[in-house]
Amino acid sequence: MLQKLKNVGPKTTKLLNKLGIYDITDLVDYYPFRYDVMKLTPLIDGDVCINATVESIPVLTYIRKGLTKLSFRVLTDNFLINVTIFNRNFLKHSLKPGMEINLNGKYDTRKNVLTCNDIKLKPIYNNEIIPIYHQTKGVNSKLINSIVNEALSQDLTIYDYIPEYLVSKYEFLDKKEALYKIHNPKRVSDAKNAIVRFKYEELFKFMFKINYLKTKREKKGGLKRNINPDRVFEFINDLEFELTKDQTNAVKDIVDDLYKPSRMNRLILGDVGSGKTIVAVCAAYYNYLCGYQSVILAPTEILANQHFINISSMFKKYGISVALLKGKTTKKERTKILEDLKKGDIDLLIGTHAILSDDVVFKNLGFVVTDEQHRFGVNQRKNLSNKGVMCDVLYMSATPIPRTYALTIYGDMDISLIKTKPSGRKEIQTSLIRTKDIKVALNTILEEIKKNHQAYIVCPLIENEDSDLTSVKDLKKKMDIAFNKKIPIEILHGQMKQTEKDSVMKNFKEGKTKILISTTVIEVGVDVFNATLMVIFNAERFGLSTLHQLRGRIGRNNLESKCILISDKRAERLKVLEQSNDGFYISEMDFKLRGEGDLFGVRQSGDMVFKIANISSDIKILTQANIDSKKFISKNIDNDFENYSMYKLLVNDLMHID
Ligand code: ADP
Ligand code: MG
Repeated sequence: MLQKLKNVGPKTTKLLNKLGIYDITDLVDYYPFRYDVMKLTPLIDGDVCINATVESIPVLTYIRKGLTKLSFRVLTDNFLINVTIFNRNFLKHSLKPGMEINLNGKYDTRKNVLTCNDIKLKPIYNNEIIPIYHQTKGVNSKLINSIVNEALSQDLTIYDYIPEYLVSKYEFLDKKEALYKIHNPKRVSDAKNAIVRFKYEELFKFMFKINYLKTKREKKGGLKRNINPDRVFEFINDLEFELTKDQTNAVKDIVDDLYKPSRMNRLILGDVGSGKTIVAVCAAYYNYLCGYQSVILAPTEILANQHFINISSMFKKYGISVALLKGKTTKKERTKILEDLKKGDIDLLIGTHAILSDDVVFKNLGFVVTDEQHRFGVNQRKNLSNKGVMCDVLYMSATPIPRTYALTIYGDMDISLIKTKPSGRKEIQTSLIRTKDIKVALNTILEEIKKNHQAYIVCPLIENEDSDLTSVKDLKKKMDIAFNKKIPIEILHGQMKQTEKDSVMKNFKEGKTKILISTTVIEVGVDVFNATLMVIFNAERFGLSTLHQLRGRIGRNNLESKCILISDKRAERLKVLEQSNDGFYISEMDFKLRGEGDLFGVRQSGDMVFKIANISSDIKILTQANIDSKKFISKNIDNDFENYSMYKLLVNDLMHID
């Protein structure tokens, strides 16, 4: 496909593939991420950008290995100057006397030499806009732009996902024209108009999928359960602790959903430590009473283990059988579990993605829980709910987001919010300090460790490469020196193998390690009750929600806990964390203060990768696209989108998802 284009051979095709470009559509949708506006300057001492005429044949000199110099003369405004440029051998043959070119570099008046860092083989006009693309070695922005333009000059069939009546309502550019303008804007406004249009299209399509799935699901039947939902209180009243009001309400929401004959698709949105797991467990109990099997899918082994240990002890006295299936499960054990599942001898299966394997077959799966839902892509979730006919699905997420967002990007789900923390929890005391006061942090670490508590330390980098930021490896060395190697410290980061990460987490959980230095990879849901201190270096590098989530790793029981944020930047927004422990408030503030929030981790998997839109900063467009797509669906769903061929196709694709 791509190779039909001039200048695109097998080698370039490979490089384009590397950029995620596989066909003409990918190509024309590969938008510039920024534009440079060129400004011509007069010939002055210092940085210049001038047009000039080549006067002499360039001379190439080899200075040493890997360094060559090209020298020639140009005429600009009747002024003859000497030009040099390093390591551009290939220009020797393209530069011919008489040619008009553009030169960018530093001019030295005294020596009359212009040392260039860039030469364009044609003159530019003042304020010319140059599109800049993400490039890779072998294909630069200029080449990408010329290939795109070659594609655009062909007679392409381009589908517009924005229905015509909306194109005219918003006076959007025609799609083909918009494509041309986004790649070759003559004015800044050209680019702006085109960008808005593509953002809207992308978000409209995205909201279409969400709203369509919701509409379809509401029409679909689900499992019948005949047991009175109130019987879940037999279990709740027997728990060691009392549920909070929000927890009780969430359980009621879910159990009512399960009782109703339609299919559930519900999200529990609750801060870290708000106690989501128990809510899912209550619902699994009710599902068991009704005679169906349940599944809890966790993103990592360590979380799956934790759930298994906690839940099997709670379920023991009810005779509910719980099994754990993970990558490490032995073959013998696995075979037994699979048999028992098929026979219906296992009531609740807890596991990692190992559960998704095709040979895992249930007798009558009725209820699926996905913990920390953003880690799983739509396709993996699909696999799981397909294991049961019409089964009900519950997602749990610890990323609090502002209400407006929740209602759009989770629009296909019903939402239960857990805002309050279990009583008896002490507020985490958060303080903001500067690097020069690092001693405060070190002393606090020592104090906590003397009390036999543990500490997390988070920094932005794994390793320092010419950066002033703190790194995990560097800090480990420094801490070992500071504490004379007397305190067991381990590190954790994303470049480690999963098995290594698991064992580090296990050592920490068991109290063998006292300090864990890591990047932001620490598991969201892991309980280390003894960890009472969280120290975060270069805190200004993180969004407020991420920081809040990180500190949620401590204070998971009634011990006094502290969080120390270290930052030398005057970041007013960090003060929000000193003042509040409420994740929902914090995420609202983050959006207010930065204009865009920190949606890290929200629906992060595959189904939410945008080419141009940004759900944080494009909230207005998102909200409008949500409203418009709903109307569009209700108008066209009964005739199967008859007049919209691409939506007919999209709908067919979506049918496979559900
Ligand atoms: P998260 O919402 O982050 O997943 P968990 O479900 O892991 O939180 O709960 C955190 C801890 O709080 C667990 O140890 C759990 O047993 C405990 N917990 C949950 N609900 C309550 C409650 N109502 N009262 C006291 N402790 C609770
Ligand atoms: Mg959890």
